[in-house]
Amino acid sequence: MPESAARAAARRAASVGPTLAAGALAHVGPAATWLPVVRRHLSPRLAGAGHPRHVALTFDDGPDPVSTTRFLDVLDGLGVRATFFVLGDAVVRHPDVVRETARRGHEVAVHGWSHDRPWLPAPARDVRSLRRAVEAVRDVTGVAPQWYRPPYGILTSGRWAAARAAGLRPVLWTAWGRDWTATATPESVRATVEADLRGGGTVLLHDTDRTAAPGCWRATLGALPDLVAAWRTAGLTVGPLSEHGTAEVHATAPRVLGRSGAVPRRPLEHGRSRRG
Ligand SMILES: [Zn+2]
Repeated sequence: MPESAARAAARRAASVGPTLAAGALAHVGPAATWLPVVRRHLSPRLAGAGHPRHVALTFDDGPDPVSTTRFLDVLDGLGVRATFFVLGDAVVRHPDVVRETARRGHEVAVHGWSHDRPWLPAPARDVRSLRRAVEAVRDVTGVAPQWYRPPYGILTSGRWAAARAAGLRPVLWTAWGRDWTATATPESVRATVEADLRGGGTVLLHDTDRTAAPGCWRATLGALPDLVAAWRTAGLTVGPLSEHGTAEVHATAPRVLGRSGAVPRRPLEHGRSRRG
């Protein structure tokens, strides 16, 4: 789907709630047939909508021994705390990075055990892998994680059920920075975030290039000071999801992807949508 069509679809789908911005829907949007279902079932809360004077800052795909600590240093300098969605298989390889992330006051959340796509339904594996990731985070930080964001934002019904079984609340995002591309710059990341972000929004960025273009995290890092300054100038506070005022989401699966838990056929081949 061309970007213009995806954006148009996202605008139509945004009727589900004014704070459900185009970012999250553009991500699921390439499977156009999803959209009527998405409209009915995706809630602003699932998209990470919170208090209108607050911005939730989140980073996916870490921990990374090269880049994550650079983010921790910049965030310290800005006086900002954020939520880091980590992968279990990286947590066990780099526990010190995760421990340091928590020690500096950030929230550690679950992005899954590995960064994969759920091409086939595997509800038992979903439960095992999420519980394993929760245990990995808890072992390292001493704190049980609260939040779950699936890789690529693909929230199958199986993953949803697994998250609930593991005591996690699924959350996506309302704005992203397209910071995973080789051409991303601090300016492009900031402009992309600001195009979709409103007060109450949840921002998706990445503190590693593990699943992206090599070195692209530098663009994200470079964008942070100006992004935070702009939010503060606008009277917004920035912090982790735990301070975002996100109310409880649906108690049942949104059935976005059908009962089987499988994703629709080739839903996310669109290059711009390979995120989360
Ligand atoms: Zn990811």
